[in-house]
Amino acid sequence: MEHTTDIIIIGAGAAGLYAAMELSAKGKKVTVLEAREKTGGRIRSITGNFSKAMDAGPEFIHGDLPITKSLLKKAGSKFYKHKGEFYRSRNGKIVETDEMTEGWDRLMKELKGLKKDMTLVQFLDEHFGDEKDKELRREVIGLAEGFDAADANRISAFAVRNEWGGDTIDDSYQIEGGYTPLVDYLTAECRKNGCTFHFKTEVKKIKWQKGRVEIICMSGQVFEAPKVMITVSLGVLISENETCSIAFSPAIPAKITAAKQMGFGPIVKINFEFSTVFWNDANFKNSVIQIPDLGFLNSENEIPVWWTRAPDQPFLVGWAGGSNAEKLKQLSDDVLLKKAIASIAAAMNTTETIINEQLTAHAISNWGNDPFTKGAYSYDTPETGEAKKILSEPLEDTIFFAGEALGDHTGTVEAAMENAKQVVKKVLSL
Ligand SMILES: Cc1cc2nc3c(=O)[nH]c(=O)nc-3n(C[C@H](O)[C@H](O)[C@H](O)COP(=O)(O)OP(=O)(O)OC[C@H]3O[C@@H](n4cnc5c(N)ncnc54)[C@H](O)[C@@H]3O)c2cc1C
Repeated sequence: MEHTTDIIIIGAGAAGLYAAMELSAKGKKVTVLEAREKTGGRIRSITGNFSKAMDAGPEFIHGDLPITKSLLKKAGSKFYKHKGEFYRSRNGKIVETDEMTEGWDRLMKELKGLKKDMTLVQFLDEHFGDEKDKELRREVIGLAEGFDAADANRISAFAVRNEWGGDTIDDSYQIEGGYTPLVDYLTAECRKNGCTFHFKTEVKKIKWQKGRVEIICMSGQVFEAPKVMITVSLGVLISENETCSIAFSPAIPAKITAAKQMGFGPIVKINFEFSTVFWNDANFKNSVIQIPDLGFLNSENEIPVWWTRAPDQPFLVGWAGGSNAEKLKQLSDDVLLKKAIASIAAAMNTTETIINEQLTAHAISNWGNDPFTKGAYSYDTPETGEAKKILSEPLEDTIFFAGEALGDHTGTVEAAMENAKQVVKKVLSL
């Protein structure tokens, strides 16, 4: 048996780090076990051939999120409103969009009038089942699947209403240097407070009884403590018996069933850097559609969504989510790269040769295949409310669950930290 401590935290992503910082600041002895070689979890920057650090995972602050903004300030990071306009590319033509297609107002009116929650597909079947609304249905499903990493057959209509009825899409901030300085800040605070980190330490099994856990790792190491906080993603939690999963003894079927009722979807994210801003460059005016104030570009191609860091910077980020990403996640990075190039070429009505000639750096992040996340982030199903309550309830004051999926701002870094903060309060109250 190795290492005795007050509490073991599994996972050093935003939730695990935030909890470790707060618990250690209150004098608790905290041990953090992390499968990867460093802290951050889904927050990961890519350097490679890029002239700036790019983000494999999160890069936006979606709205006015207090914990995130306050920590970024402490970390010395600046953030700014995402610049540029929304466009849609259809059949090689670009149209500026107020985010949505014709029928959007009708859609929001019906959603606002909805009394009982149901899945998005059920809602569309009931209210927009006519042939004339076919295009609207396709747009709505594409948007929910794309941005929420969701299966339209599972995502809650109420959740879609809350998200689209608010202003978070318009109210997005980008962070200079990405989320990594926030991770570095949390990690440094944890170390200052005396937390112990074990990296490349994948947890395989948790044997538990009231007041005692024994954590068995892939390496054969065993850690023991009176409590454990589990911050792994929903994807890892529900992947019983697969590689990189965690077994419980005794089993915890009610918790796992609750986790399975919540939504968790894949994303393929592609970062590209080019030698020119060819969508805003007179030299390309005859060969590429010019969109000088490009912010977001939504298309119907295999990698449908693209955005700029700023309209005048030579970076494009590609994004596929939901059922689209589910299909793409099986493919190799080389195939995904080709599809991404073909997708931009089609969306900007140009040739793959031009895109290839301009491309100076690329990175493919296929989150559905990431062994220690097994997806990108959670989304709400009609069952999520009840399921969250079940999963949030500590087991015998011994096993605590925390992380993005249990926070209020679903699918965000803020959600991971706000939930960690709540769970820390529960731990300290015992
Ligand atoms: C492509 C993408 C884009 C995103 N965009 C945004 C965005 O723009 N804005 C935003 O706010 N959020 C965004 N998110 C969501 C955000 O990244 C997450 O909500 C947040 O980082 C989750 O933090 P967490 O601590 O809950 O989980 P994680 O970061 O997943 O931390 C869990 C940790 O547990 C570790 N682990 C897993 N299994 C084991 C094991 N068996 N043993 C030991 N350790 C283990 C993992 O390695 C990981 O470090 C995005 C996510 C992705 C993937």
